[in-house]
Amino acid sequence: MITRISDYLKKSIPGADVCIVGAGAAGLELALALSESSLSVILLESGYEEYDWQVQKLCRLEQKGRRIRSADHDSFFGLDVAERSEARLRQFGGTLNIWGGRWKTLDRFDLQAKPFIQDKGWPLDYEELSRYYHKIAERYEIAELMQVERAPFSLFPSSSFSSGAYLLQGVRTDIHSRFYMPLQSSKVRVILGANVVDIRLSNDLQKVDHLVVRSMEGHEQPVEANCMVLACGTMENARLLLASNRQIHTGIGNQSGWVGKNLIDHLKGRAYLTLFPQHTKGLEHLTRKIGSKTIGYDIKIHPQLLKEWDLPNHSLWILRTAENFVYKCRFVLEQLPNPDSRFYLSEKRDALGMPIGCTDWKFREEDRLCYLRFVEKMNQLLKEHQIGTLSCYEMEQYRDCSHQLGTTRMSFTPEEGVADNHGKVFGINNLFLLGSSLFPSGGNANPTFTILALARRLGDYLLRSS
Ligand SMILES: Cc1cc2nc3c(=O)[nH]c(=O)nc-3n(C[C@H](O)[C@H](O)[C@H](O)COP(=O)(O)OP(=O)(O)OC[C@H]3O[C@@H](n4cnc5c(N)ncnc54)[C@H](O)[C@@H]3O)c2cc1C
Repeated sequence: MITRISDYLKKSIPGADVCIVGAGAAGLELALALSESSLSVILLESGYEEYDWQVQKLCRLEQKGRRIRSADHDSFFGLDVAERSEARLRQFGGTLNIWGGRWKTLDRFDLQAKPFIQDKGWPLDYEELSRYYHKIAERYEIAELMQVERAPFSLFPSSSFSSGAYLLQGVRTDIHSRFYMPLQSSKVRVILGANVVDIRLSNDLQKVDHLVVRSMEGHEQPVEANCMVLACGTMENARLLLASNRQIHTGIGNQSGWVGKNLIDHLKGRAYLTLFPQHTKGLEHLTRKIGSKTIGYDIKIHPQLLKEWDLPNHSLWILRTAENFVYKCRFVLEQLPNPDSRFYLSEKRDALGMPIGCTDWKFREEDRLCYLRFVEKMNQLLKEHQIGTLSCYEMEQYRDCSHQLGTTRMSFTPEEGVADNHGKVFGINNLFLLGSSLFPSGGNANPTFTILALARRLGDYLLRSS
């Protein structure tokens, strides 16, 4: 059932087994995963069905360091401007209201350790993640994507290159039919206009006692549940944990200081691949059409060589032929995990009295060096196999992909992150995080496919543990 916070002015919000905060891709997929179980579920969402600028302003940012895409929040802007310049949307459906609809899985290599920066990788088994990719692909009718093993470019030998497929355009989820309608007719209690502004712990600080919900009009309500899941997006998950600092002054889940650290994104820029003239046929089948969907392909350096050369997993999306065998490409870079790049709280407050967020998005020196080395090695391989040459811009000219990741990373131990491999916050028995804030590193894949897979996986875990 879909309700509004104004429906609870004279009655309290009933308690539940599971309370999910945030109705974006992550929260909605989890709510649907639990909707047919015997568990009672509440889904609290700050926004409404329609775009609302006052609500959108709640996620304004101050920015230091490199800029992340964000509109000017000092004057009114509509959904059209938000579509062009915001990296997050505060509305039912969350950022899915403005995303590009590209689907891509992480590679097995992406979850592995990066010894050259002493990073231990994801505390998650790729086979397990892959099982959930398949489940999501079935649900979203994109199973074809999972069947494409390699790009059909015979020029790139599999001993030196790897390749993958991504769904290019065309599957921008219909939020109304996929989420709104099924939830309206389910027993999940969705409450719109419900802004969570604080997390209160039990006296022993071992579990969440209740959440504090505030309406834009200032009406406040506690919400109790056996299990709480924050699915507010990368920055808002960190913001809520940091701002909930009445009982623990550094914020919740922040014993080791990791909340807000490791703010990473993908970088994108243009590159050109020029084939040597002997390849008179050029690259065939740049894309493949399956029904209404278009599959595109990327080219990467083989993982074994990436390991040998201490490189991250950058990816070259071959977009289209220009002229004389010059292919226009999108180069998507994996930003290396970086504790010095961070999200933190400002002194300023939003309309609900919550501290607004600040970003200081930065790169490691290794990012720049790896980029140069990657281009050099890619060119070496292209020459060795008589394929062609790659030319790229300076890394400084690349910009963010609106894929914020990593601010509440999952880790093997509490010293190295915020949550375990199910997203359970270390030290708090009933608090889970969900979404790309959990990603310890980002690979090069657009994050939503992985976010949805993690949501289904958490759903199964909560059902097993209930
Ligand atoms: C322009 C653009 C293009 C993109 N294109 C792609 C793409 O092609 N492929 C891809 O994979 N990804 C893409 N992305 C990224 C993708 O949109 C996000 O990764 C994904 O939507 C994140 O989902 P989420 O549920 O984790 O977070 P969100 O979508 O941010 O949802 C969080 C929800 O929580 C709510 N919320 C926040 N704080 C609170 C609070 N305190 N109380 C209550 N509710 C709260 C918000 O209102 C929101 O509805 C794109 C993003 C942008 C901006």
